[in-house]
Amino acid sequence: MGPVTRLSVEGRGLRPSKILCVARNYPEHARESGAPVPETPVFFLKPTTALLESGGTVLLPPQSRRVDVEGELAIVLGKGGRDVPWEGAMDLVLGYAVIFDITARDLQAEAKAKGLPWTAAKGFDTFAPISPVTPAARVGDPDGLSIRVEVNGGLAQDGNTRDMVHKVPDLIREASRIMRLERGDVLATGTPAGVREIRDGDVLVGTIERVGRLEVRVSRKV
Ligand code: MG
Repeated sequence: MGPVTRLSVEGRGLRPSKILCVARNYPEHARESGAPVPETPVFFLKPTTALLESGGTVLLPPQSRRVDVEGELAIVLGKGGRDVPWEGAMDLVLGYAVIFDITARDLQAEAKAKGLPWTAAKGFDTFAPISPVTPAARVGDPDGLSIRVEVNGGLAQDGNTRDMVHKVPDLIREASRIMRLERGDVLATGTPAGVREIRDGDVLVGTIERVGRLEVRVSRKV
């Protein structure tokens, strides 16, 4: 199994036009990254070519010496919109998935220090592994879901989506004030504390209550 550009929704494929991610949306993770939670959500993009299906292999790029895994709840949209009101935001949600926001931390730190974009740090092929999508009706309220990441069987992240500062409808509303959202788009909602360095040979497992399970291997790119 390798890179994909389609998401699996109950056996059918859905093609996202973009992957929007949120920086520092959990206070404990903001603390470990040494900066406060932004008052309004700060978004960045990953290319859809970074998508990887569960069972695939995350490739460590030769340009980086430090790559981390961040486990996150992904919102998958069934409908698009622009300037979506808060009250209508949840109507856009098709379902949810487990996503890893894989990050070349050294490249990100360098970009931060130089005031440059995070495109390389976040955008390598295979840097957005995602589980199959679970329909919203089966998940119910996305606030209050346990979210865990294990690296080689050891617990790295153990959080809960209730600790998100900017909640699912806030994120949809704010993102849609910047750009048109489209059917299939993915919105990664930020990571709890405990981001962990990953190495060649590691096995990463992410689980979110009622949403699903994501498992990938890690290998050096040759
Ligand atoms: Mg993240």
